[in-house]
Amino acid sequence: TVDSSPLLPAPGHWLGVMGGGQLGRMFAQAANSLGYQVAVLEPAADCPAGQVAQHLVQAGYADAAGLDALAARCQAVTTEFENVPADSLSRLAEKVFVAPNAQGVSVAQDRIAEKRFFVACAPKSGVMPAPHKVIASFEDVDAIEDALLPGILKTVRMGYDGKGQVRVKTREDVRAAFDAMGQVTCLLEKMLPLAYEVSVLTARGADGQSVVYPIAENVHRDGILYTTTVPGPNVSADCARKAQDAARAMVAELGYVGVLCIEFFVLDDGTLVVNEMAPRPHNSGHYTIDACVSSQFEQQVRAMAGLPLGEVRQHSPAVMLNILGDLWFEGDSAQPREPAWDRVLALPGACLHLYGKDDPRRGRKMGHLTLIGATLEQAQQQLHAACAILG
Ligand code: ADP
Ligand code: MG
Repeated sequence: TVDSSPLLPAPGHWLGVMGGGQLGRMFAQAANSLGYQVAVLEPAADCPAGQVAQHLVQAGYADAAGLDALAARCQAVTTEFENVPADSLSRLAEKVFVAPNAQGVSVAQDRIAEKRFFVACAPKSGVMPAPHKVIASFEDVDAIEDALLPGILKTVRMGYDGKGQVRVKTREDVRAAFDAMGQVTCLLEKMLPLAYEVSVLTARGADGQSVVYPIAENVHRDGILYTTTVPGPNVSADCARKAQDAARAMVAELGYVGVLCIEFFVLDDGTLVVNEMAPRPHNSGHYTIDACVSSQFEQQVRAMAGLPLGEVRQHSPAVMLNILGDLWFEGDSAQPREPAWDRVLALPGACLHLYGKDDPRRGRKMGHLTLIGATLEQAQQQLHAACAILG
């Protein structure tokens, strides 16, 4: 029932997105720039994506009437977050083309399914995930092998930005953490000695062609992405090739259509370990808006519309800094302030993206700042200047 010919950009052609956050907003901006109209499904009346889209279906992510309204208006639908109910994507897929599909999204929604996929893929990808064990009962806690500790206990579902994770040293810690999380099914992962973290952003078209962006090096603070640097100062050519080959093997195995990001750890001894994947544009790929020929958001549009994918070539070295709500407060106090954007924008190569959120909270992603330069050193210098201004 779903037409497989390309959906050419035209005023009457609508693309839908499940979720109204910043990823949906930047998706809508890319879709608009190509000439599509955009409809967003989101329960909140005022949301970053709704502010720029041409239409908002204000409904819950599992609301049947809302899903049908989105499907009726749009010719293709995507999602901006992985926790959208897989059943909702299946319902939409009965009426419109949906990319990524429910199957691809459901693997990434569940840390157990994700780890199983990584292990099954290892002969082709050449990388393994961290040693791990499912913790679904106190008996599972008793059976933990010493080699898995110290570790990190992660909820199987709904974790993001380091939420739903507890660091554990002993079986007693695991027992207490499992209990504190309400005894929901968790995954215990061995704590690995990370040298640095990287991610590989890929896009795969409906015709099976795929593209892989340059590898990105990521620094996290308090479980939240802090900076992404491309090219990564620590990344060797060998590591980049291994990670990109692994990512290519994994998207092909998934038969996935759309943008997918895979996070890896690089250990002190150089071993590459696959961490997790996001079935959507990713925070570590925001630099592509300003530093690559086609951004990750444009690729999502192209993939779901059945168009050829764009060029992933990076034309400028870049550093992306996440802008958190903390910047709207004086130091550690509750004293409000406005960041000095006028001074930041005076820096050469500064590209500011604010998401239209009017209530800054500590730890909340309010925007990002990408600094591009003729050389990586220049971009890094501007990052330091920006950090000095923002304080
Ligand atoms: P989230 O869904 O919150 O992004 P991740 O599994 O990516 O969850 O974990 C967040 C961060 O915690 C990682 O980027 C990494 O810095 C750290 N981390 C996660 N798992 C491990 C591990 N097994 N060993 C060491 N550090 C880890
Ligand atoms: Mg992560």
